Amino acid sequence: MSRFFAERYQQMDAYVPGEQPKDMEYIKLNTNESPYPPAPSVVGAVTAERIELLRLYPDPTCGVLRAKLAGLCGYDAENIFVTNGSDDALNFIFMAYGSKGAIFPDITYGFYKVFAQLNGVFYREIPLREDFTIDPDEYMEQNRLILIANPNAPTGMSMDMGAIEDIIRSNPNSIVAIDEAYVDFGGQSCAPLVAKYDNLLVVRTYSKSRNMAGGRLGYAIGNVKLIQDLEKLKYSTNPYCINRLTMLLAEATVDADQYYLDCCKEVARTRVWTAQALTELGFKVLPSDANFLFAKAAKIGGKELYMALKVRGVLVRHFGNPRIADYVRITVGTAQQMERLLR
Ligand SMILES: *Cc1c(COP(=O)(O)O)cnc(C)c1O
Repeated sequence: MSRFFAERYQQMDAYVPGEQPKDMEYIKLNTNESPYPPAPSVVGAVTAERIELLRLYPDPTCGVLRAKLAGLCGYDAENIFVTNGSDDALNFIFMAYGSKGAIFPDITYGFYKVFAQLNGVFYREIPLREDFTIDPDEYMEQNRLILIANPNAPTGMSMDMGAIEDIIRSNPNSIVAIDEAYVDFGGQSCAPLVAKYDNLLVVRTYSKSRNMAGGRLGYAIGNVKLIQDLEKLKYSTNPYCINRLTMLLAEATVDADQYYLDCCKEVARTRVWTAQALTELGFKVLPSDANFLFAKAAKIGGKELYMALKVRGVLVRHFGNPRIADYVRITVGTAQQMERLLR
C-alpha cells in the first residue's frame, strides 16, 4: 500500500475471487460457472461486421437488451437496470440505499461485506440458524438496506417466498435486494413481486445460468424510480460499462432462452444424483437449489478435503469462516466431471 492511498480504503479487505490456477489442467468446480457453452446462436452472433463496429461507443441506455430482458420477466424496459456483471448492480445498490446501514446473513455472498466497506455503509451480519436457514423474524421492521441471496450462497438453500414477501412488506422505508444469481437452478423468483412493492430490487446475472461468466453481464429488476436512481449512479461512474460485444451476446442469449433453461435442468439433474452419491459416501450435504453443493466429509476437514482434491486435479472452494470451515462448496459440472470428483 502506498502512502498516497485514501485513508478510508486502507483498512478495507478486498474481495478474494475463487482461484484460477494455471499450473495444471483442473476440473474446475470452484466458481460456479456453467460447464456448458453459450448457445450456438449466441456464438454465431459475433460477426466481423459487429467487431468493426467496436470503433463506436455502445448504446449507454442498453435499449434493445433492456426491452428483451423486460419481455422475459413481464415488465417494461424502464424496470430493468443493466450492469457489467451483477456485482456492479450490487455495488450501486449499496451506494444508493446504504445510508441507514445494511443487514445480511453472516454466511452469504462474501462481496456484500466488501461493498458495504467500500461505500462506508455500516453493516450488521445476522447469523443463520444452526441448520443454515435464514430466520425471517430477524429481518422484520429493520428499515435499513437488506440483502438476501436466494438461493443463498454458499449453502444453496432457498428461502420461502412468503417469508421474503413478509420481509419486504415489513420494511416499507428501506430497500430489500434479493440476489437471484442461482434462482434458475431450482429456486423461486421474486420478480413477480416487483409489480407490488416499490422497495424491492431483484438482482440477476448471466454468469451462472446463462453460461457467460466471462462476458460480464448482470441486471436488476425494480420499480421505475429505483431504476432511475441506479441509472444516475451508473451514468456518473461509467455510462458505457456494457461493451458492444457483451450487449450483442446478451441480446442473443435472451432469444435462446430455452437452450439455457435446458442447461439448468441438466445441471439440476446432475446435482441430485451427485448429492445422493456423496451422501452414500458418508458426506453431509445441504439441500441445494443452486448449481453447487455444500458438503462436509465425515472424517476430514474442509481445508484438508479441498487440498486433497486439488492435488488430484479437482478444484473446489473452501471458506475460512469457522462456522463453515468443515464444508467445501462444489460446483455441479458435467456428469463426467462429477464422476471424476466422486472417484
Ligand atoms: C456469482 C454471484 C454473483 C455475481 O456475479 P457476477 O459475475 O458479477 O454477475 C452475485 N451474487 C451471488 C450470490 C453470486 O454467487
